[in-house]
Amino acid sequence: MVSERLIVGRRSPKIESLSERAYQSIRDNILRGRYPLGAALSRRQLAEELRMSFLPVSEAVQRLEIDGLLESKPRVGTRVRIPTRQDILERYALREALETQAARLCAEHADEDGRQGLLKMGFHLDQLYGSGGDEEFLFSVHTYHLRFHLRIAELGANSLLRGAIEREQVLVFNWLFDTAARQRSLPPRFHSELAAAVTGSVEDADRTMRTHIRHGMDRVMEAMDMSTAENGWRSPRKTRGSAAKTEKRP
Ligand SMILES: [Zn+2]
Repeated sequence: MVSERLIVGRRSPKIESLSERAYQSIRDNILRGRYPLGAALSRRQLAEELRMSFLPVSEAVQRLEIDGLLESKPRVGTRVRIPTRQDILERYALREALETQAARLCAEHADEDGRQGLLKMGFHLDQLYGSGGDEEFLFSVHTYHLRFHLRIAELGANSLLRGAIEREQVLVFNWLFDTAARQRSLPPRFHSELAAAVTGSVEDADRTMRTHIRHGMDRVMEAMDMSTAENGWRSPRKTRGSAAKTEKRP
């Protein structure tokens, strides 16, 4: 990542892999909702939790700030960033622009094997969403959901567009929004229908993907408004055992 290298400069491979591990692990905990929006994160406690030194953790935190998942204030600390209304609208619009085009290209370019594979993935994803489960299970469902949407972009055979979807993290933010809004279930056949549409006509692909992306947006906006209202900047509290502390939310 160019921006990351600009900030941290040259590092040893060992630090680099530790920092990557810290990055993944903190990001996963944000996506799981273990570190909820607004949660104060202490670098020292993160380092303890991850059994790492301060340096790789600091680098990971810097990267997550660039991603827009964390934010820091001098003398106050670091917390999981609470997106503003405007951020959310812009994220949705960006996702719609990128993924609707990916859907159109998928309808135009996917070969027969690709189409069949995607239909199977959609069906499987619907089953997963319908089966409930614990936090770990939900994490694997979200991971599969992300792969499903990336697969559509791959079948569209435009590597620049696929790259933009990953780089802009539109699917990661979608996951974060779902977690924050506690959106755990989706309409029946939600992804089977999307898979059928993006392997059908270009018009269908476009329309169905657009509707798919906007689904649940109101609920997300509402959940984020609540987070903003409840979470001003707070200093990290000194507690043992967890790097994240937040007040209980209803
Ligand atoms: Zn989806």
